[in-house]
Amino acid sequence: MAEIRIRGVAKTFGSFTALHSVDLTIRDREFLVLLGASGCGKTTLLRIVAGLETASAGEVWIGERRVDGLAPRDRGIAMVFQNYAVFPHLTVYENIAFGLRMKKLPQAEIDRRVTRNAELMHIEQLLKRYSGQLSGGQRQRVAVARALAMEPAVILMDEPLSNLDALLRLEMRAELKGVLAGSRTTTIYVTHDQVEAMSLADRIAVMNAGRIVQADDPVQVYRNPAARFVGSFIGNPPMNFLPATPAGPGAWEVAGLRLAGPAGAAGRIEFAIRPEDLAPAPEGLAATVRVVEPLGPHTLVTAEVAGAPFRAVLDSDLRVAPGDRLTLAPAADRIRWFDPETQEALT
Ligand code: ATP
Repeated sequence: MAEIRIRGVAKTFGSFTALHSVDLTIRDREFLVLLGASGCGKTTLLRIVAGLETASAGEVWIGERRVDGLAPRDRGIAMVFQNYAVFPHLTVYENIAFGLRMKKLPQAEIDRRVTRNAELMHIEQLLKRYSGQLSGGQRQRVAVARALAMEPAVILMDEPLSNLDALLRLEMRAELKGVLAGSRTTTIYVTHDQVEAMSLADRIAVMNAGRIVQADDPVQVYRNPAARFVGSFIGNPPMNFLPATPAGPGAWEVAGLRLAGPAGAAGRIEFAIRPEDLAPAPEGLAATVRVVEPLGPHTLVTAEVAGAPFRAVLDSDLRVAPGDRLTLAPAADRIRWFDPETQEALT
């Protein structure tokens, strides 16, 4: 049982607060992705769980043990960090076998685990090479294979695929997902790549400026962002936002279009819609097309609505050109509303 509980964890570096009292529980066997822009505190949080950094306040529990006072090696975790410590003077085989030898496993078991994990990471042909002779991407895969070979209760990974080219990254992502889904391992995985996060995670914890803004399953995070930041960070292109003014009980006016919206809110609020939830219709938001980008299956249109940039992902059969005027209707069940003061979602 390796549930990880992070309770009130804060971290300051001098006068700078990198983490503001973070609370997060990662369930036993869950694959949790910490996602956020550069500098939001993902690595700091992971390093605190690993024991490579000391929290300024708060507690970390793994299973029934409080671990924040323990050395990294006593926490029962395997880790893959950005500056992966692969020993250059050891062969790939010995690197992967390293922890297994420390655990004094029988040679046959070591062989089995090294071979299996080297195959998973597509480095089986490199087993006899010295790690110092490998490329960055190859070293990174050795680090992942070494961590997986430990068959740990908890694995912590910080951008483990960052040095791989796009195709290999896609392949490794699927391999990792397959291996970890079938294992008893609880995983925390740090990335700033939202596609990787969506594809791998059971749950995504979105971070912004030292806080967790939303922790939810990937579809919820995408469809129902709890905060404006989440809608503006996730999705490529991200959500569109427009100001909305009251137009009667439960009714709002958005760029001249009257829409049903939250009944409880007062004053100005914000309307939000994903670019793919728009379609040309007789009634909708009046848009002037600025740029047209054919993407194969779809066409990305950058337009202007009420003087603001506004993007729509449209059917590629639709012929549009810069200067065209479109009326774009938002899919009623996909509209979201935000409070401009708190930046939180309104219902
Ligand atoms: P990235 O994706 O770029 O790795 P991150 O979200 O992992 O970013 P962290 O490495 O956790 O971000 O850093 C969070 C903030 O804390 C950053 O603003 C960083 O500059 C600051 N920080 C991290 N380590 C230190 C340190 N040792 N001393 C001072 N500031 C630090």
